[in-house]
Amino acid sequence: MKTIENINFHGERVIVRVDFNVPFDNNKITDKTRIDASRETINLILNRGGSVILITHIGRPNGYQKDLSCELIVNAVSEVFEREIIFCRSIIGKEAEKMAKSLKPGQIMLMENVRFYPEEVNGDIEFAKHLSKLGTAYVNDAFGSIHRAHASTAIIAKFFSKKYCGKLLDREVSAIEKVLKNGKKPILAVLGGAKISTKITIIKSLMNSVTDILIGGGMAYTFIKALGGSIGDSICEDDFCEYSIQILERAKQKNVRIHLPEDVIIADAFNNDANRKISKINKIPVGWQGLDFGPESLKIIKPIIINSKTILWNGPLGVFEFDNFSKGTIELGNLVAEATSNGSFSLVGGGDSVLAVKKFGFKNKMSYVSTGGGAMLECLEGAVLPGIRALS
Ligand code: AMP
Repeated sequence: MKTIENINFHGERVIVRVDFNVPFDNNKITDKTRIDASRETINLILNRGGSVILITHIGRPNGYQKDLSCELIVNAVSEVFEREIIFCRSIIGKEAEKMAKSLKPGQIMLMENVRFYPEEVNGDIEFAKHLSKLGTAYVNDAFGSIHRAHASTAIIAKFFSKKYCGKLLDREVSAIEKVLKNGKKPILAVLGGAKISTKITIIKSLMNSVTDILIGGGMAYTFIKALGGSIGDSICEDDFCEYSIQILERAKQKNVRIHLPEDVIIADAFNNDANRKISKINKIPVGWQGLDFGPESLKIIKPIIINSKTILWNGPLGVFEFDNFSKGTIELGNLVAEATSNGSFSLVGGGDSVLAVKKFGFKNKMSYVSTGGGAMLECLEGAVLPGIRALS
């Protein structure tokens, strides 16, 4: 992939596919990390004489949806880039092209949510061609969507000879290579969170690169149930029990150590104020569910984290949104921060891990905090992703 590093954008109208899919609460942005993360790329283009046409998606709309309109992010984008943002309600067509062509160097135009058109997600070539008419060059900096063969993330690149990888995308890919290709051993992957079905397949692939895998959060209970343990009412995906046994066997063959929690904090309901106590993870009574990593588990995992030279962290170790069940995730953050300050390389990725890292003040204590969850995980699977292939 060609980066924007040495490119002169003088007089170019540069379509930049960004990932401004920020979280909202009552139409208010709760975390603008993704907008901040594009700053370097956009400022570089503007400082080198280009104008910028920003294309992003927000959420998964079904046609036009007011609560997923890019209009909601205009002020935040304006604050980040310290200039007025021209908002274009239409995404393709004469009006959009006219507005794009009248842009002057240094100006930024933000297009409406590209997913309001189903053609985006379908990777429609005609739609991509229309989009391409807005600009004279194309930059992809949407790491969070790089695993999608969508019109604006991959297909559009066909219509440009001037197509580049943005700074963020470049940094993200380099950080992943630092774990998978050039990682110093021991390499530990910490996998937590609730979505077992989206992550469990990746464990298999990670076994080709890492030496240790810590399975925490809701994912762990599927393994424990498969091993014959009693997990009470804990979260579990029964369809993956058999697969988790295969994973454990494969790990043995590959000499990869899999670490499952010994004990957990259990609750008698899924809320912060539920009654709670410590339990062996494989002896959870009915009516109780595991919601956080336990103290014994933390003691066991501590030396493994501290001694790892490379650490990849995806997913919280418990329901960190509840203060009473956030200790495991906070302690993990402290340990990864300690390892990082001792010279280990730490990469944190995945929406909720990033939220947790920010919430508990660890962001600047990690080597790299990724902006893409699913995209990072697919990269970790070793696949060449459509957005990357399109730029190559
Ligand atoms: P994911 O998006 O798969 O990384 O999942 C993140 C979510 O997993 C967070 O919202 C956590 O609250 C949730 N989570 C972590 N541990 C558990 C658990 N033991 N039971 C239920 N949910 C959990």
